[in-house]
Amino acid sequence: MNNSKPIYVTKPFLPPLEDFIPYLEKIWERRILTNGGPFHEQLEVDLAEFLGVKHLALVSNGTLGLVVAFQTLHIAGEVITTPYSFVATAHSLIWNDLKPVFIDIDPATCNLDPAKIEAAITPQTTAIMPVHCYGTPCDVAAIQRVADVYGLKVVYDAAHAFDVRVKGESVLCHGDLSVMSFHATKVFNTFEGGAIVCPNAKTKQRIDYLKNFGFVDEVTVTAPGINAKMNEFQSALGLLQLKHLASAVEARKKIAQTYLEALRAVPGITCFATAPDVTPNYSYFPILVGPDYPLSRDGLYQKLREQKIFARRYFYPLISNMPMYRGLASAAPANLPVATRIAEQVLCLPIYPDLSAQQVETILELIVARK
Ligand SMILES: *Cc1c(COP(=O)(O)O)cnc(C)c1O
Repeated sequence: MNNSKPIYVTKPFLPPLEDFIPYLEKIWERRILTNGGPFHEQLEVDLAEFLGVKHLALVSNGTLGLVVAFQTLHIAGEVITTPYSFVATAHSLIWNDLKPVFIDIDPATCNLDPAKIEAAITPQTTAIMPVHCYGTPCDVAAIQRVADVYGLKVVYDAAHAFDVRVKGESVLCHGDLSVMSFHATKVFNTFEGGAIVCPNAKTKQRIDYLKNFGFVDEVTVTAPGINAKMNEFQSALGLLQLKHLASAVEARKKIAQTYLEALRAVPGITCFATAPDVTPNYSYFPILVGPDYPLSRDGLYQKLREQKIFARRYFYPLISNMPMYRGLASAAPANLPVATRIAEQVLCLPIYPDLSAQQVETILELIVARK
């Protein structure tokens, strides 16, 4: 048993504390704590520029961002989505009284398979909610083609896709809306937080009303909105985090490259390839533990745990296997063979800027040992 400190799958990134003090002093001085304060306004502008998107609206977390996104577009009925994601993806539909319809995923990307969309469309279908799983871009062109033919909206769960680019362009510009999460565990964090990327000022206006109870002015409420506002503390932290993002992603990239080089030759272990035109954010490092590896996925998971290395089985169990979803016809494992297999083989290895080269070596030695 090793006596070193536990290694978790991620460790929240924070800038030096002293750098945050001036922001806090400003907040104390101004006494503007929330409701679209100056740090909130500045973060919206700076983030849109940083990400290369036209408009975005900050929200208090990614889940409420998804809930508000469906309200923004007046979605009703059925939404086609993936079972291979964090549970908030499907929960955001339930909170809007929408019915999730699960389709299988593409084994190369773990994203919903666009070829499976058409067969899942019914007269009640109004939207598609793909997830850029692990920050790997969805086949946005194929998804949009089906959406256009059937007049469906597309809401991307882009919780993993902060600053992911394809041919230099932000992947967040596709579909009708894209929703990011700035939760503590994500590449860019504001403790809790998120943002909805939208194509025009009018849509942003509607989101801004919806995230503040539907208030248009002091006496006018246009919609049954919710409280999904990002406060000044979170916004200030976001402004500071943004300055460190490039170096944080660079540190993640080094770790990902070390893992990839060491693991690609290990029989029974499969790593995922990044397409040459994609600029990733290295938010996760998933591997598949296949039948040619001497341990099962859970065997390797346990072996790492015994050494206080807490890799995570993202995403297992599938959302479609959770009690509130498994009664749906589309949740049947026979409908989702690829997602079912990958959920049983996947293990996400620790990856975060502070993970040392020595820690990466320790993790790799345990996996490469194959026993
Ligand atoms: C983190 C996450 C969310 C939820 O975001 P929160 O900010 O934690 O509410 C939604 N979808 C996916 C895929 C996520 O990973």
